Amino acid sequence: QAKRAGQHDLVIYRPGMLDRRADDDALGQDLENAVASGQLRVLYQPMIDLATGHPIGAEALVRWHHPLRGIVAPLDFIPIAERTGTINGVGLYVLEQACREAHGWPGDAYASVNLSARQLQDTGLVAAVLGVLDRTGLPPHRLVLEITESAIVDDRVAIPALETLRAHGIRIAIDDFGTGYSSLQYLSRLPVDILKIDRSFVAELDNTSKGSAITEAVISLARILDLTTVAEGIETADQAAELQRLGCHTGQGFLYAKPLAAPDVLEYVTHHTAAATSSASASTSAS
Ligand code: C2E
Ligand code: MG
Ligand code: MG
Ligand code: MG
Repeated sequence: QAKRAGQHDLVIYRPGMLDRRADDDALGQDLENAVASGQLRVLYQPMIDLATGHPIGAEALVRWHHPLRGIVAPLDFIPIAERTGTINGVGLYVLEQACREAHGWPGDAYASVNLSARQLQDTGLVAAVLGVLDRTGLPPHRLVLEITESAIVDDRVAIPALETLRAHGIRIAIDDFGTGYSSLQYLSRLPVDILKIDRSFVAELDNTSKGSAITEAVISLARILDLTTVAEGIETADQAAELQRLGCHTGQGFLYAKPLAAPDVLEYVTHHTAAATSSASASTSAS
C-alpha cells in the first residue's frame, strides 16, 4: 500500500531525475483520471485585510496526491495539464470545491481561484463559472478569478469573457503582477478589479529602497486605476508594515498562514474575523 502523506507533509516531486519528457507524458496520462479518482485536494491560503489584520477571503491552491509519487506541486503539473487540455477539468473541479467551501465561510469572505490561460480560451468558460455559482449558491461578489498578464495579452476571446464575468459581479485579479509585459495603456483597458503584487517584489521590501520603489509604483498605479492591491508571499512583520505604510489593501503569506486544508481555513476565517474577535473578547470579559 502506498504511504499516505499527511496533510502537511510536503513531499515535493522533482522532475528531471529521469527523462523529463517521458516523465511528463506519464504524469499527463495519470492526470487524466486524477479528478475522477479524487486525487486532487484544494488548500486555501487566508487573505488578510492589512488595515485590520482580519481575514477577508482565501486563495484556492490545488495539490495532487499521486498514489505513487506523493504530493505533486501545482507548478509541476499545471503546465502539463495546460498542454494536454486536462486543465479544463482540473480548473473546474478546483472552482467548484472552492465555491462550495467559501459558501460556508462567515460574512462576505471570498474565494480567489486561479484560472489558466487555456481556460480563458475556452468558449464555455463563462457558462461553466456561472453554473458553478448556481450549483453552490455562492454569490458572485464572493468569487475572485485570478489570471496572469500573459494569459490575456492581446486576446479576443478572453477579454469579452472577463467583461461578462465582471458584469455578473465576479471580480478579476491579475496575478503575479509586475512579472509580465503589459503596458500601462493596455492595463487601463483591461476588465480587472485587483492587482496582486508578485512575491518577488514583496521579498525585496526588506532589502533595498529600490525593491520598495517597485511595490510603491504598483500601488500608486493601482490607486490611479482605482484597483485593489493584494501583496503575496508576505513572510515578515517588516514587510507587512511596509506594505501597509505604502497603502496596500490586502496581504497573504506564511506570516499569516500557509495554505490550509478546508476545515482549518474555516476555523481560521471564523476565529479571526472582527465579529469573532469582539464576541470572543465580550465572552472573555463576561466570564
Ligand atoms: P500563485 O497563484 O501566485 O500562488 C501563490 C504561491 O505562493 C502558492 O504556491 C503559495 O503556496 C505560495 N506562497 C504563499 N505564501 C507564501 C510565502 O509567504 N512565501 C513563499 N515562498 N511562498 C508562498 P503553490 O500553491 O505551489 O502554487 C504555485 C502556483 O501554481 C500558483 O501561483 C498558481 O499560479 C498555480 N496554481 C495553484 N493552484 C492552481 C489552480 O487551481 N489552477 C491553476 N490554473 N493554477 C494553480
Ligand atoms: Mg494566484
Ligand atoms: Mg500569485
Ligand atoms: Mg506568484
